Amino acid sequence: MLVVRGGTVVDPIGSRAADVRIDGERIVEVGPELDASGAEVLDAGGALVIPGAIDVHTHFDLPVGAVRSADDFESGTIAAACGGTTCVIDFAGAGREPPVEALRTWHEKARGRAAIDYGFHLTVTEVPEDPAEAGARFRWFVSEGVTSVKLYLAYPERLMVDAATLRRALVAATAAGVLVCVHAEDGLEADRRTAELLAAGRAEPAALSLARPPEIEAAAVRAAAGLAAEVGAPLYVVHLSSAAGLEAVREARAAGANVLAETCPQYLFLTADRLEGPPDEAAGFVCVPPLRADADREALWRALGSGELQAVSTDHCPFTRADRRRGTRTGAGRWSAFTEIPGGLPGVETRLSLVFQGVRDGRLTPERWVELTSTAPARLFGLADRKGSISPGMDADIVVFDPAATKRLDARSLHMRTDHSPYADLTVTGWPAATISRGRVVALGGEPAAGLGGRGRFMARTASGPSGGRPPAGSQTGTSNG
Ligand code: MN
Repeated sequence: MLVVRGGTVVDPIGSRAADVRIDGERIVEVGPELDASGAEVLDAGGALVIPGAIDVHTHFDLPVGAVRSADDFESGTIAAACGGTTCVIDFAGAGREPPVEALRTWHEKARGRAAIDYGFHLTVTEVPEDPAEAGARFRWFVSEGVTSVKLYLAYPERLMVDAATLRRALVAATAAGVLVCVHAEDGLEADRRTAELLAAGRAEPAALSLARPPEIEAAAVRAAAGLAAEVGAPLYVVHLSSAAGLEAVREARAAGANVLAETCPQYLFLTADRLEGPPDEAAGFVCVPPLRADADREALWRALGSGELQAVSTDHCPFTRADRRRGTRTGAGRWSAFTEIPGGLPGVETRLSLVFQGVRDGRLTPERWVELTSTAPARLFGLADRKGSISPGMDADIVVFDPAATKRLDARSLHMRTDHSPYADLTVTGWPAATISRGRVVALGGEPAAGLGGRGRFMARTASGPSGGRPPAGSQTGTSNG
């Protein structure tokens, strides 16, 4: 028995002074001045007590050409716990391998290593043309506890799907209770621009902004949302990065499309001028979509406050300096063009606090902060029966968040397995004092407890989607639990 005493419980319902009693792995009681006799007490005086954060966009142990993302399921989930995240959904699949193989490989990567609970999305690169076969495949995903997929409209050589494939996926997925996520960039246009830039000798990191401008994000959002509206499917846009992309989301909604969208801290805190420094330094800021302008940052913050964006995830995909220098091309000792710099930033440890800076700045209410980082991700991705709120019966995934603690976000103060931090010059106010995962304290004062590897469990999810994870009416999909 553990009682979290004297804090302010915050969830989207509101904020109130309350204690939280935990028995084993579950929350059993929430209320003022609970009897703590015989229980271990965790003092939360002066702190916010919030549901553990959920990061629905990570890439642990992901091979990218000659290199691999630096965090595996052990180091990545330990870092997550230190920063207040108690559940991640990682993208299973590295390319065009069959889903059975991708899922088996990702289970092997995570099993026995994860410190916190985890689920998988599957990356889908092909969908059977026969509707019965397509339906069966998506129902198999659900039977495996995977109720969300991602399709890429970019990267023609590795991952991109055409419109017909996306349409088949939307139809089959929605019937099965699977939410379709898209990486929204017009990949053919990005490749055309890239070839043009390289031919003109523009190989430096800053050229990335010209190769992948906001218009190609907006175009892909429009195309995907149009298809989704046609077939009556919801659509979740990952890592929305620009004001133009946001405008495309608004237009699609006005035309009747059910579009959900997330953004990531890098698009809220960093801008494209970071790509203009010395090449090796600039390389540390390469991600896709690329960093944008200040006006984009502003638009995204406003959309988080207004409810136009549903969630903040990270797209956590860190690399070491050495691997960034080496580049993705096999056999090359060093990258020779921006296209060969492995793209992705560390983020799984810093998201909860970075979004909290929006509360400090008056851009977000505390309730909205919790909604964006925990409750909405749980609801949209089929975890709301176990996670995303502080109420009896839920998993005891709880963060005691000290709103006054300060932390400098340099690589040495953090636990992600990389030697550089895109926020190295930033000191945040507000950091987890304690992170509890299914009843166990897994981090204290931003430092991990010992012996965490392997205690995280695979979360078999039921239906995902804007209906809040309920299977669609009349569906014959099986359910399973973790
Ligand atoms: Mn990603």
